Amino acid sequence: MRCEECGKGFEPKHPRGRFCSGRCRAGAWQKRREEAARARAERILTALLAQIEAAIEEARARLAGWDGASMRTAGPQTPQMPRTASPPAAQRLVRK
Ligand SMILES: [Zn+2]
Repeated sequence: MRCEECGKGFEPKHPRGRFCSGRCRAGAWQKRREEAARARAERILTALLAQIEAAIEEARARLAGWDGASMRTAGPQTPQMPRTASPPAAQRLVRK
C-alpha cells in the first residue's frame, strides 16, 4: 500500500487507510481545502473578468459612436448655462 500523500509504502492499520500517518492525512486534507479555496477564487476571478470585459466592450462601443465633435465645438470650457436659467438679480450683479 502506498500513502496517497507522500507515496511511501506502508501497512495500513485501518482497512480503508490511505495515508501512512496522521500528518499525511492532515496534509492531504489541507491540500483539498486549499484546492477548493483556489477553485472558488478562480470562479470569482473569472466572473469579475467577464464583468470587466463587458465594461471595456461597452466603453469601446461608446467611443466608436463618439467622433469628438462635441469636444471640438464646446472647447475646454464648461458649457454655458442657458441665459433664462440665471435669475435676474444675478445677471445684474454680473453686468455691473
Ligand atoms: Zn505519507
